[in-house]
Amino acid sequence: MNADPDCIFCKIANHEIPATVVYEDDQVIAFDDLSPQAPVHTLVVPKEHYRDITDGVPAEVLASMTHAIDEVAQAKGLGEGFRIISNKGAHAGQTVMHLHVHVLGGKPLGEGLL
Ligand code: AMP
Ligand code: ZN
Repeated sequence: MNADPDCIFCKIANHEIPATVVYEDDQVIAFDDLSPQAPVHTLVVPKEHYRDITDGVPAEVLASMTHAIDEVAQAKGLGEGFRIISNKGAHAGQTVMHLHVHVLGGKPLGEGLL
């Protein structure tokens, strides 16, 4: 599996550094964000290293990420709804250059995206 030795999310995926893991399978790991922006803030991350959503991510990896989002929603009791965000590049404020989807919820988030 592709891994970047300097990438913090590759290290979490390989269990080299700790995280609060919410869900894991062969392709994906989901863990709580270190700086939560909502009562529930979990990151869904492919174990293979892709820079962002435009980095040629295979369809089966995207399907596994979608499945993992549903697993997180169930594990975290997000039946009333949640928001997903994936930042790409400087204008989006991406800080970790390993594809990840933020799952945010646990309270009404309002109608605005930002
Ligand atoms: P982004 O701005 O979309 O690149 O988001 C990166 C996210 O990763 C931020 O919300 C950080 O709080 C989070 N983060 C960075 N390092 C860790 C870590 N070691 N464990 C959990 N979350 C992290
Ligand atoms: Zn990585």
